[in-house]
Amino acid sequence: MFSTLKGMLVTLSTTLRKPVTAQYPKQHLPLQERQWGFPALTWDGDVGEPYCVGCMVCVRMCPTQCMSGEMIDNPLHAEGKSTRRKIIGEFEINLGRCILCGICVEVCNFDAIEMSHEHEISHYQRNGRRTDLPLLLEMGKKFQRESNWLPPTKKKAAVAAAAKAAAAPAVEAGAEGEAATAEESSEKEAEA
Ligand code: SF4
Ligand code: SF4
Repeated sequence: MFSTLKGMLVTLSTTLRKPVTAQYPKQHLPLQERQWGFPALTWDGDVGEPYCVGCMVCVRMCPTQCMSGEMIDNPLHAEGKSTRRKIIGEFEINLGRCILCGICVEVCNFDAIEMSHEHEISHYQRNGRRTDLPLLLEMGKKFQRESNWLPPTKKKAAVAAAAKAAAAPAVEAGAEGEAATAEESSEKEAEA
């Protein structure tokens, strides 16, 4: 009898509890900064072109071989507006085959590709998620706007500044320690 009442109380308390689930896709929970969605290409807003130079390293390293691309001569370089001699001309990722491993981001030497927050590109067709250069760049621009993404040069400067700031107290502590030791030894010498 007692255990029956206890069970009913558990059921009643669960019924009255505020739901912790979200009614997806009508309701969306906020994404975390570390969320990994599909890969996207970043945009160099200062020059007005992609960071991607079409080196094809990511294409060769992709384990599912879902990427393809073509490198072209950069017209902006010919006009003296860009330091990139080569640029990406065509690029495609079949996001239906992408396993979100992040290897393409790891191997890129130009910070030209990032794992964006994009995760809702459903299609009824098998090949419906073949995503071309303009769309990949749109996804990248959206990610850059919405995240704390920094261009490569600014990122390096920020990391160097953070390392310098972290090293400064240690250097100061070391200098203070040396001064205290020198003071102690001079006191000992005076006593002798
Ligand atoms: S995204 Fe990076 S690794 Fe891939 S082709 Fe562009 S520059 Fe090369
Ligand atoms: S995340 Fe992995 S599977 Fe997807 S495109 Fe990049 S390397 Fe290929």
